Amino acid sequence: MPDIIRLLPDSVANQIAAGEVIQRPASAVKELLENAVDAGAINITLIVKDAGKSLIQVVDNGSGMSYSDARMSFERHATSKISLAEDLFKIRSKGFRGEALASIAAIAQVEVKTRKPEEETGTLVTIEGSTVSQHEITACNAGTSVSVKNLFFNIPARRNFLKSNASETKHILDEFNRVALAHPEIAMSLVQDGLEVFRLQSGNLRQRITALMGNNYNERLVPVQEETTIVSVEGFIGKPEFARKSRGEQFFFVNRRYIRDAYLNHAVVNAFEGLLPQGCFPSYFIMINIDPSKIDVNIHPTKTEIKFDDERAIYSIIRASVKRALGKFAVAPSLDFDQEHAFSIPVSMYSKPPSAPKINVNPGYNPFKESAHNPAPSSQAGRSQLFEMRQDEDISRLKVAGQIGLSFILCFNDKEAILIDQQSAHERILYEEFKVRFEKSQSVSQQDLFPVVMEFSHSDFEQIRELMPDLRKSGFDMDEFGRNTVVISGLPPGVNKGSEKRIIEEILEGFKNNVPGNDINPREKLLRSLVTAIAVKSGQKLDEREMQLIADKLRHCSQPNFNFTGKATFVTLAPDVVANLFKQRSLK
Ligand code: ADP
Ligand code: MG
Repeated sequence: MPDIIRLLPDSVANQIAAGEVIQRPASAVKELLENAVDAGAINITLIVKDAGKSLIQVVDNGSGMSYSDARMSFERHATSKISLAEDLFKIRSKGFRGEALASIAAIAQVEVKTRKPEEETGTLVTIEGSTVSQHEITACNAGTSVSVKNLFFNIPARRNFLKSNASETKHILDEFNRVALAHPEIAMSLVQDGLEVFRLQSGNLRQRITALMGNNYNERLVPVQEETTIVSVEGFIGKPEFARKSRGEQFFFVNRRYIRDAYLNHAVVNAFEGLLPQGCFPSYFIMINIDPSKIDVNIHPTKTEIKFDDERAIYSIIRASVKRALGKFAVAPSLDFDQEHAFSIPVSMYSKPPSAPKINVNPGYNPFKESAHNPAPSSQAGRSQLFEMRQDEDISRLKVAGQIGLSFILCFNDKEAILIDQQSAHERILYEEFKVRFEKSQSVSQQDLFPVVMEFSHSDFEQIRELMPDLRKSGFDMDEFGRNTVVISGLPPGVNKGSEKRIIEEILEGFKNNVPGNDINPREKLLRSLVTAIAVKSGQKLDEREMQLIADKLRHCSQPNFNFTGKATFVTLAPDVVANLFKQRSLK
């Protein structure tokens, strides 16, 4: 038998890589804009025709490339941005994989004209389906112009799969906005089918936001600024009264890179708690600066997800800084351009990185279980024991005493007090309940609803269609109802009538953003989004029956200690803990 394994030709390998990196014209736009930013350009023009399907061109006045670099840039894994593995921990540039140009050239007709400012002649390279057809000296402006024609010309399936021009243009605009917001110091223009749509002057973030979003944004913005040793946070949030029904204007940038992060989004939304009308989403434009060694940008090929070493600390810093900004704004409601600088806050409330208080806990200990005594497991055994807990004994009910700060349920068993975090406990409960439903793949008894019609944007509709089978299993009785519309006629138990629209929106939101805990399958992602959307929230008043229900149901969970994000669901106040508190507070 002859050997049968071969290395793929570069053109094929590049096409495969392109499948990951370049999904649609907007992906090419993103890569080219980022290359121009990385090249240090202070002026960038994006030209698109036919929603990028026939032409995408990016012209910059950056560093340009030498004759041989211009050719080299199309090789796979060819990059000037990193050379050693440890450079991966110092990344400040947008690119570093060296894949974008090779990928684009595999699936389009590409022409590059480039000249280094200090050189007299420039270089022209044309390449089509990974084959170079021209590589010669040419006269051209300093900087680089890359034009990409007929994207997917050699992959008809991909080309046919592209959405309408309106929808592809929307994606392109999103990418343009993200780069423009991340780099207000760079002058940027957009020319669409021969029409100049944007000409953005170099300026500060506030000016850039108003130039992109409209002048009326100026009065809507509240500055956020926080300096800590682990991160600095700056940017703007929209005043609560301008919150919108759609989640359009929510931007996080980490080291000037746009990211999506449901967990950090939650931090902002949480800071707005109680200030937003039902079903509204706050706007925000938040820049996070952090030491690149404390994040991993390498987890996603198109890099809109990153991983923070210390996600929780960042969560609380963001929440606190948004809260502070909102507080300041309440005392000084009118802000204008000139006041912007007066708002920098020199002394931080976090002068030291927050460190978790040391508390000795026994993670395997379950107060909901009554046994004569709970032997403390050795620290190693602790974790596994947590997952093996059963509730075989019949336990007497917990006595519910009341709610603390509208967030915690105080209850007692016969030995100690237990504080339940209502939100994370309810999330745990619902998570286990819905998981069973998904697995049994039978839909549950529903509460009937007078049919409610919900309309979506086309892309959201596509998403909902995909999720529909699982949503049905979870108890949403829903059907397609014409163009971009569904009709809902039944709800899962526990979902209040009238809240179905908000909940579907939240599920969609949660599903689109990365729910904390990456790499989870779509059904798990849906499950988590669903549970997050319908669980009671901190700050919500509960009546006695509801508190009792949460306490009882938590007790019956198979893993009652944490919700699915790892947040504790309860703490116990045993007599010795209480005694300790007294000791700490005493003078002697
Ligand atoms: P990456 O950005 O990950 O390095 P790319 O394939 O996007 O990979 O680009 C390859 C290389 O080509 C870059 O590292 C850079 O040296 C060069 N390059 C690409 N675009 C430009 C540009 N607009 N100006 C100057 N150099 C560029
Ligand atoms: Mg690049």
